[in-house]
Amino acid sequence: MTIRDLLRLALIDPLEARILMAHALHCSRVQLVIRENDALSAEQVNEISGLLLRRMQGEPIAYLTGEREFYGLSFAVTPDVLIPRPETELLVELAIERLPQAGRAVDLGTGSGAVAVSLAHTRRDAQITATDISNEALAVARRNAEHHRVKIQYLRSDWFEALEGMFDLIVSNPPYIAASDVHLSQGDLRFEPPSALTDHANGMTALSAIIEGAPVHLKPGGWLLLEHGYDQATAVRTQLTRAGWSNVQSWKDLAGIERISGGRHQVALSEK
Ligand code: GLN
Repeated sequence: MTIRDLLRLALIDPLEARILMAHALHCSRVQLVIRENDALSAEQVNEISGLLLRRMQGEPIAYLTGEREFYGLSFAVTPDVLIPRPETELLVELAIERLPQAGRAVDLGTGSGAVAVSLAHTRRDAQITATDISNEALAVARRNAEHHRVKIQYLRSDWFEALEGMFDLIVSNPPYIAASDVHLSQGDLRFEPPSALTDHANGMTALSAIIEGAPVHLKPGGWLLLEHGYDQATAVRTQLTRAGWSNVQSWKDLAGIERISGGRHQVALSEK
């Protein structure tokens, strides 16, 4: 059996089959083409068939290969963490622009650490803290920080619980999908940790808790930036405005959907 034979037999998307094969054979997809007619060992055929079968049953590619690229960096992922999404790169960009020189930022509910590590990787001057309620997630996040050689203070924390001191910026991509949302039972989401996706209620619980708790941890003028669902921008802006935040606004992702909303904490009128 050769690579070409196995590719012909695979009942999944050919690109995905190639990604899984390259992963199993520890080679690049270009090398797969070059080695197309090489005979595979029985072990290799077994391993690849196992991966193809798991993919057919819906397991996300990122969990099968154990990695996903985000903000130009490779991140280790396990089923203990949400798979980083391209739209979340906007959260990183907005944070990079708004964090003052040598500023202090915290990423609440860091999961794989994708946001915190990307921020720390670009802004070497900054002091980055990242929290998660899950020890398993923190272990993955630590691995990613070590791999990319960035220094991050990791804390096990239920949102703000374990935070100390004041920050210049707070970012979060919290669980915001409503329990009733059909997407939870579709595609990759079926395999991701439910606690990273949904609040088991209307989707606003974590977003509201963060908006309520943020002021006592933010320096005056500090930004709060929150990722949210495709239909939550108005609700998040309304809540920020009612709570007295300034510069309240939303930003659209590449699909044109308002995906991030945020505001500044108590900016003096003269600075606006
Ligand atoms: N953006 C993810 C999705 O819709 C959800 C991430 C989250 O709940 N924070 O698939």
